[in-house]
Amino acid sequence: MMTAHFTCKNCASGIHVYPEVSAKIIKCEVCSHEQDVLFTQENVDGLLVNCPGCSRRDFYSQKDFNRKIGVIFFIVAALISTLMLWAGLSPQWYLSTFIVLYAADFFLFRKLKPIAICYKCDAIFRDVKNIEQIPGFDHEMHDRIVYSDHDFQGKPLDH
Ligand SMILES: [Zn+2]
Ligand SMILES: [Zn+2]
Repeated sequence: MMTAHFTCKNCASGIHVYPEVSAKIIKCEVCSHEQDVLFTQENVDGLLVNCPGCSRRDFYSQKDFNRKIGVIFFIVAALISTLMLWAGLSPQWYLSTFIVLYAADFFLFRKLKPIAICYKCDAIFRDVKNIEQIPGFDHEMHDRIVYSDHDFQGKPLDH
């Protein structure tokens, strides 16, 4: 089932919801701020055409990569290497730690499912059925939507 993750316009906390046609308002659990949402039957079926948060049709897809995990990995590898160095092991031992780290990172990154993000309101959608039709991030589109309030109406720029 598709999940939607909105950002509270008042306190910027994440608000996690499942699409439901009857849900017209979502409430922030942190600050109790309420904001409007409009889910369509398509959203309930896992298709992303209109953004329930801002009703725009412009999205981009990206890998659901958790930067924090990457950083933790790197710190752990650095610690292990330091310990190996301190224990007097030869350089190929602690270099191998980074090779393992790189492989793990690569594997995890490839395993992650893509997510769709709304250019206008930054809502994040997971398990989107039509994710293949959503192109990757486009800088020009982002700038024109965010800074000039341009509406592409779901038609990505051709380059
Ligand atoms: Zn809030
Ligand atoms: Zn939106």
